[in-house]
Amino acid sequence: MKYNLKKSTSPIHLASMIKNLISTVFRQEVLNLSPYKVADANKLIKLDAMENPYTWSDDIKEQWLKTIKDCPINRYPDPEAKQLAQTIKDSNHIPSQSELLLGNGSDEIIQLLLMAVPANSNVLAPAPGFVMYKQISMSLGLNYHAVPLQADSFALDLPLMLETIKKTQPLVIFLAYPNNPTSNLFKQQDIESILKAAPGLVVVDEAYAPFADASFIDKLPQHDNLLVMRTVSKLGLAGLRLGFIAGNKTIIEQLNKIRLPYNINSLTQATADFALKNQDLFDQQTQQICRDRSLVFNQLNQLAGITAYPSAANFILFKTAENQASTIFKGLKQHGILIKNMSSQGGLLSDCLRVTIGTPEENKQFIDAITEIINSI
Ligand code: PMP
Repeated sequence: MKYNLKKSTSPIHLASMIKNLISTVFRQEVLNLSPYKVADANKLIKLDAMENPYTWSDDIKEQWLKTIKDCPINRYPDPEAKQLAQTIKDSNHIPSQSELLLGNGSDEIIQLLLMAVPANSNVLAPAPGFVMYKQISMSLGLNYHAVPLQADSFALDLPLMLETIKKTQPLVIFLAYPNNPTSNLFKQQDIESILKAAPGLVVVDEAYAPFADASFIDKLPQHDNLLVMRTVSKLGLAGLRLGFIAGNKTIIEQLNKIRLPYNINSLTQATADFALKNQDLFDQQTQQICRDRSLVFNQLNQLAGITAYPSAANFILFKTAENQASTIFKGLKQHGILIKNMSSQGGLLSDCLRVTIGTPEENKQFIDAITEIINSI
């Protein structure tokens, strides 16, 4: 069949030809997907995306501008981002036996990894979990298996995980540590058991590592099938789009074959290198966020009908009284505050909302607004 759009004159005919064209060209998995939606935060206090609310002092900005001033943007970037990779290895204490792969955000690394496995492979992750594991698996036509976490504690259901691993033989398992959106750290021993049982790779996704007191980075040399993924997004550099994954050199070598050569642009390379060499810039901010997390947690738990779950990340998941999540979410928006409504995902997330820790002033506005909304329901 030919799709000569120019010759068509009738709008109905044109629409049906485009429909045909789309269903012929695109894979069924793509047609079935819904796009990942990002809420418009214009003029709102943005507490929906686990960003760091702080920027840098003018003095630091001046120093940073000097480092990027002579960045050769007329040239392609270093395809291996060698200097930045070394800085990441140093600042994240990556074991010398391990190698790194850098991505345009850790989202890109998830995609790259899943692009490398055979068609129809099984992918497994606990649920609720980070939505991109599923979204990217589905877009590539892989079989995604979500294993429910335990209700209330959000701990891994280890027997069920092991049973599903045995049954589905997943080539990739994702474990976010701490988990998004539940914000808890899974038991180290449970992850060790999964590493032993897994027939393929286990990605421990440490996106929220700056706020947690635990990591699998030092365990990399003990497990050939372990990959540890991190991002600079939550640290305060979400706009740069930079993530990395560390693991066995020969595994990273395979992934590197499908990485696009210039995936980390020059400005990101120079800026992240500058920032990570000034780690104390972030340490203060991270400590402040952790202190404020305790305050928000306690304040939320004092509100009628609200249960806030303990967090090892820079956000808090909380449950509202039955069927109140959407009212509270909308009410907050009317007060100029954007958080994330998780309730529509159902299951363990029914009646749940997720708030990112902002500046003390933003947190106060959030707590004042939610108190007012709950009192008026
Ligand atoms: N992993 C987890 C668990 C996340 O929550 C997120 C972002 N919310 C990412 C990875 C993606 O991070 P990046 O900005 O590096 O793509």
